Amino acid sequence: ASADIGLIGLGVMGANLGLNIAEHGFTVSGYDRDPDKGTRFAHAAQEQLPEPERIKAYSDIAPFIAALRRPRAILMLVPAGAAVDAVIETLSPHLDQGDILIDGGNSHFQDTDRRLQALTEQNIHFVGMGVSGGEAGARHGPSLMPGGDPAAWERLRPLLEAAAAKVKGEPCVGWLGQGSAGHYVKMVHNGIEYGLMQLIAESYDLMHRGLGLSQEEMGAIYSHWAQGPMGGFLLEITVDILEQQDPLGEGYLLCKILDSAHQKGTGQWTSQESLALQVPTPLINTAVTQRVLSAAKAQRQQASQQLGGPIELAPIEQETFITHLSHALQGAMQLTYLQGMHLLQAANQHYDYRLCLELVASIWRGGCIIRSQLLEDLRAVYQRTPELINPLLDKDYGAALTHTQEGLRAVVQAAACWGLPVPGLMAALGYYDSYRSSWLPANLLQAQRDYFGAHTFQRTDREGSFHVEWDKK
Ligand code: NDP
Repeated sequence: ASADIGLIGLGVMGANLGLNIAEHGFTVSGYDRDPDKGTRFAHAAQEQLPEPERIKAYSDIAPFIAALRRPRAILMLVPAGAAVDAVIETLSPHLDQGDILIDGGNSHFQDTDRRLQALTEQNIHFVGMGVSGGEAGARHGPSLMPGGDPAAWERLRPLLEAAAAKVKGEPCVGWLGQGSAGHYVKMVHNGIEYGLMQLIAESYDLMHRGLGLSQEEMGAIYSHWAQGPMGGFLLEITVDILEQQDPLGEGYLLCKILDSAHQKGTGQWTSQESLALQVPTPLINTAVTQRVLSAAKAQRQQASQQLGGPIELAPIEQETFITHLSHALQGAMQLTYLQGMHLLQAANQHYDYRLCLELVASIWRGGCIIRSQLLEDLRAVYQRTPELINPLLDKDYGAALTHTQEGLRAVVQAAACWGLPVPGLMAALGYYDSYRSSWLPANLLQAQRDYFGAHTFQRTDREGSFHVEWDKK
């Protein structure tokens, strides 16, 4: 028994992560219930690794387990939900006290808490680990977000640090905290991912339908932005997408893709959590809503025949607008990240995760889907003030964000005049203006609540709770 780690589920993520780990000098024992997947895994090792013997694949559980050195470390990469419970049930009789079991899938954090509790009772060290970066990330360096039983960390550390992406020599992995900290952070990562994708899509719409730019022109603009202060993975892939020709016909592919988006649920979980913990994350919530609205294609088609928009389109100076749009996009992206961080700070208190937000920002700088230059400044905020509730309260960060607001206003104004939907950018501006407003019209809400429900209200000029018989003036 010599394998450093066992992998269960040799699908897209499992096989690629296995090859990555083996490439860094570790030995890997892989298991999949489908023997073909094991064969493909071993074959990929032959083709891609200088030492393919570092990988062995099994389709029976007993020899797979027997190949692992003790204490065993087993990483599951199977679909979230029932499959994870099924694998744990299959594995349980084969595990010994002190073994480590890691769930690297997109599990809901509450499932992770439940499994952690059950496995801790059996003295199995359970880790819930978020993995981001897709297929290429898994193969060449993902962002890894482990949390759970801290006893597991030192055993896993060398292996995960070797496999993770590196930014300026720092591995994009670190121990995030106890309980379901790892999967919670991954959930928020995905919520932020939804928000950033929505904003980029809106910027594309404004240039495409608003300015009437060609795909070549837009490609050049995104390419420029991708190399600037908001540069990152999602802008980089947008350039590639704009350049992609249709493999089945003439012209570009993008304009032939149906405008109906799906969601697997992790963005929605983030919104649900933010409502449960009462943290405002309107950019993430809007992104989830827009996917739902996009999927209602038939309704939108009918409504497009019936509902009116602006009569006359206001002309706009193109070059100035694009400068405004770059500021608007950057500011709104920053607001998306910080709303996610705000949620993490609240979750840290609520679930006692012992998260370090500086580490979270640092891990997200490489390997993952939301990696971008913007995370450097966010990391610096938490270096200065680890317990900060919201980065907008950091003077330097807030001042830098204030520079983008003029562009955001100009873009939202133009979009409203054109009748183009930019709910993400509008949510960004609404949030920014609400957050910086020391007074909000919630006094009227409180009066209304007291009027119809005798909910009472507080006064600004004296202590206590008050109620008025409003209709008996
Ligand atoms: P795949 O579908 O490619 O692979 C899943 C593997 O799990 C398959 O080998 C499958 O075997 C196996 N499996 C499914 N159900 C069971 C079961 N009940 N018992 C044993 N094995 C089972 O999925 P991915 O590799 O893409 O995803 C794995 C996890 O990683 C998921 O939670 C996903 O959300 C997460 N993830 C995926 C990313 C991606 O970009 N793909 C990125 C980040 C996280 P079989 O074929 O026989 O069903």
